[in-house]
Amino acid sequence: MFDDEFPEEVRRLKPRKVRFSRDVERLLGSVRSARTDDAKRTPQALRPEPGCQNSICCAACGQSEYLSRPYCRCGHYLHGQIEDEYLVWERDLREMHEIIARDAERKLKPLRWLALVAMPFLIGPMLIAFLSTTPSVTTFLWWLPGFAILGGTVLADKFIARHKAESSAFLENANFETFLLVRNV
Ligand SMILES: [Zn+2]
Repeated sequence: MFDDEFPEEVRRLKPRKVRFSRDVERLLGSVRSARTDDAKRTPQALRPEPGCQNSICCAACGQSEYLSRPYCRCGHYLHGQIEDEYLVWERDLREMHEIIARDAERKLKPLRWLALVAMPFLIGPMLIAFLSTTPSVTTFLWWLPGFAILGGTVLADKFIARHKAESSAFLENANFETFLLVRNV
């Protein structure tokens, strides 16, 4: 038998502990701990920072993942998720533009009426000056409120129209690239 080939004291021998010098052990220890640290850090380090331009938050597992990856590490289809997010964003954008356009139209209506209010102040003095043989300065002073009202309505009109035009231009130029740029802002 195998056991019989060795004397009794050999069989009772405990396995010898391999001893390295203290420096070697310290070195091995540091390498081992460094490896352990790497193993702990690697899964986190491979994930992109949440909120980064090139990251996406997986809807299935909640982890951030690289946008370039079609699938998350949990198996969720990320490209499908980003396409869905884009469609929702585009729909919201259209709705927002409709609200701005409706709001602008609602504000512009009274302004047009206000412009009509200014007309008597402008036309009145002109008629008086035309009919009267000696037009006075006070006749033309009536132009001042007329021009003030008209100027105010023109400025307000421009401001509202610009807001609507900006929204319209953004909607027209909005595409998938725009969405990728603004989605984390
Ligand atoms: Zn995931």
